[in-house]
Formats: sequence, structure tokens, C-alpha cells
Amino acid sequence: MKVYLLNAPYKPRFTRDMRWQDTGRGGTLYYPIWLAYATGMLEQVGCEARLVDTAAWGWNMEQVLKDIENFQPDLAVIDTSFPSLNNDISVAEIIKQKLSDARTVMVGAPASQLAEKMLSSPGTDIVCRWEFDFVLRDLVEAINEGKSLDQVKGISYKSGAKIIHNPDREPSNSEDLDKIPFVSQVYKKHLNVKDYMLNYSYSMHPEVQIFTGRGCPFRCTFCSWPQTLMGRTHRARSVSNILDEFEWVEKEFKEVKQIFVEDDTFTLNKKYVMEFCQGYKERGLKIPWGGQARVGLDYETMRAMKEINCMMIDIGYESGNDEILRSVKKGITVEQIRSFAKEARKTGLSIHGNWIIGLPGETKETIKATERLIKETKADAITVAVVTPFPGTELYNWAKENGYLITEDPNEYLDERGHQKSIISYPELSSVEIREAVDGILKGYYLSPSYVPIALKRIFSRHGLNELKVLWRSAVAFLKYISNK
Ligand code: SF4
Repeated sequence: MKVYLLNAPYKPRFTRDMRWQDTGRGGTLYYPIWLAYATGMLEQVGCEARLVDTAAWGWNMEQVLKDIENFQPDLAVIDTSFPSLNNDISVAEIIKQKLSDARTVMVGAPASQLAEKMLSSPGTDIVCRWEFDFVLRDLVEAINEGKSLDQVKGISYKSGAKIIHNPDREPSNSEDLDKIPFVSQVYKKHLNVKDYMLNYSYSMHPEVQIFTGRGCPFRCTFCSWPQTLMGRTHRARSVSNILDEFEWVEKEFKEVKQIFVEDDTFTLNKKYVMEFCQGYKERGLKIPWGGQARVGLDYETMRAMKEINCMMIDIGYESGNDEILRSVKKGITVEQIRSFAKEARKTGLSIHGNWIIGLPGETKETIKATERLIKETKADAITVAVVTPFPGTELYNWAKENGYLITEDPNEYLDERGHQKSIISYPELSSVEIREAVDGILKGYYLSPSYVPIALKRIFSRHGLNELKVLWRSAVAFLKYISNK
């Protein structure tokens, strides 16, 4: 079977597989990660797959249509995100008009929440909900074996005038994750690693983003993936399987300078991380890496990570106000953020701090408290997001029930240039004020003299040349963003 997997044209450099989709104010472009996992799994069961990333290649719809006509797929899989949903549905329609024999399949986080909407379009035949790489593989195998669609868990589809929703598929488990191909091998075969960039401090270019596990057991109300895509159950690949991928990248994918572990919760289990560190040393690996982590990670583990070439960690701090952290069930306090930032600095790890403005309870005063904490914690780089209530999240339901949503249409999440705008507005803090506060904090951080020593530290580090390039690219993108406002 021939399968075409498409990260479709939308706004330039728009990333669907980011937690907070945007066109990257700092120049970031993510891989189409989940689509790449699906590509690997389909090839594993004998499909001829073509993965097309129009965000990286700068393709328009005309180029896609030419390419897809040449390929003549049996299935065209279209990735979606909440802010690009209407666009993505219309892409499926255009493809369906061109290739009426191919079946169109929509995937992505919105599929678990808005399958009806997707299927109400004449362009969509099937929707794969939740962990779609596994569902897609089951679907292809069922079609190959001549089974009927009602036997495939996790899909929604049309049967005559009716829309049928089969029961959800069970989430994958750790053993399943060990069996799927390394996503870095898919990147090497289908994509150009030089196209992708993380604007984190000490993130080397080119890099690959991988997952060592899926699902997050924490209950942060704003966080979309555990509530719409990968679920709350945490499952992890075996340490030896992860080390095999690290080793493969180091030996067989030489242009890659860093691996970034994109998991929600790689550092959830100290014993697991320590085993990984030990295994990395025993195999004599050298490749630099970084990853997502959580406040609460202890000094000893961070030291062990640093010793095996961990360059940076990406941390969700979110807010400088305890009441807000409590209300979004973040499970951390301002005091814990402070002491974590201090400990992390002592280890020498570089920190990328993530903050959100506009969470429940936000006021002008709490924004000031967050800004003070940002300055105090002195991360090497920061991201400040405009609060975005994704359908399916507790935050979305809360905002809707309380009348704080300006619109229920997720296509309104971005402005015409593809940057986040707030669709939440409070009586004491408007959506415009939320967005202005984000821009003000970013300017205040990066354009202030107090960032100079941080930038100099980065430039005069062991990887100074790389840091200079990352800083330059990020600065150009950021200045372009603020000057066009
Ligand atoms: S800990 Fe991180 S990944 Fe997990 S729910 Fe909270 S924000 Fe999401």
C-alpha cells in the first residue's frame, strides 16, 4: 500500500507538532515528529510511505498536488493542529478532488475532540484519534487483510450518511514503544535535518528530536497532549533501546550534533535516568543531548546528566504566583521554582524556562510577579506563551463555563502572521493586555542590559560558535517579530 503523509501548507514555518503552535517567534521549526513516527511504523509493515513537510520545504498547495499526483497514494494522511484546523480540512478536500480513488485520513490532536467536524467535510474519509501512529498502522493492516473498518479501534469514519466512531484503541505500552523504528532513521531517510531548529540555549544545529516515552501522569489543566493525544498513562522505552538510538545517531548520522529528548516526562523516574546515564558512559557515547524536564529534578540527577553531555534542559515554570500554579494543578510552588533554578545553575546545565501569561487568576499584579521571577531565575533563554485553551483540556472547559472565551473557534488562536493571540479575556485583564504582556516580558528580558552577561556566557562557552549562530538566528527572528507589530 502507498501512503502519503503530509504536513500541509499553512502559515510560513508553522509547526503543528509543538505544544503551543506558532510560527516560531525565535526562529524555531520542529520536525513533524508524530507524522515521522507514523511513517516509520507504516514502512515497518511494508507500506511505501512518502513523508512531506511543506513547512520546512516552503511548498505551496500546487507543489503538493503535483507531488501527490506523481506518487498516486492509496491513503493520504493529513496532520492537523487546532489553530490550522479549517485549513487542514480544506487541504483534505482539495486532495480528495484531485485523487478521488485515494482515501483521506486526518490525524493529530484535534482528531480526538473534533472527529465529527472533520468528517462533516466531503474531503475526509477517516479520522485516526489519539495515538495515531498505532491506529494508522492497525488501519493499514486491516485494509490489507480485507477487514472491515468497524474492526479498527480508534478510528471514526463515514458509512453512507452516518458517521461511525469505533471505540478508542488502548494506549501503547513500553514494549510496543521498543518495537517501533527509530524516528531519527525516518528523519534521515525523508527529511533534511538542517531545516529544523530549536532556539533553545545550547541547542546545537542540526539536531534531532526524539521521544523516549509517551504520556504524562501530571494533571496540568492547560496541557494539551496528555488530554488530547498521548494520554495520562506514562510508558517508556527501555534504557537499552534509547541508548541504541543514541548510538545509531552518533555513528550513522554524523551531521547531527545533538539529540533533543522531547518527552513530556523523561526525568519522571530517577532510577531510570541514572541507568540511562550509566549506560551512556559504558557505551562510550559522546553525542551532546538535551531534553524536557520538570521542577523537582534533584541535584544529583542533574549532575549525572551534565556529566554525560546533557547541555540543556527545558523546564515548564509557568507562573510566578502560587495561587495560579495551584489553580492549574501544576504541582509546584514558586519556592520550588526558585530553589530548582539555583540548584540547576550550580550543575552547569543550561536552562530554557517556559512561562505562560493569562492562566486562571492572572492579573496585572501576578504578571509583575512572574516577570520578577523570570529575572530572578535567570534562565539562559525563555519562552513566554500566551495562554491557549485547547479543546479537550480542563482549562478550555473552565474558560468556557465561566464565559472567558472570546471564541470557541480554535482557528482564531493565531493572528494573520501566525503568532499567538489570546482567546481568553477576563473582566480585569483583557486578551489584548495578555498578548501585550507577553511581548513586553520578552522584550524586557532579551533587550535588557541584564541579558548581556547571559549572552556572553553562551558565546564564550565550549560551543561558543554554535551559540553565536543560535543567538543570531533567534535575534533576527525576534526583532523581525517585534518590528512588524
Ligand atoms: S507536567 Fe508538563 S507535560 Fe505533564 S501535564 Fe504538566 S505541563 Fe503537561
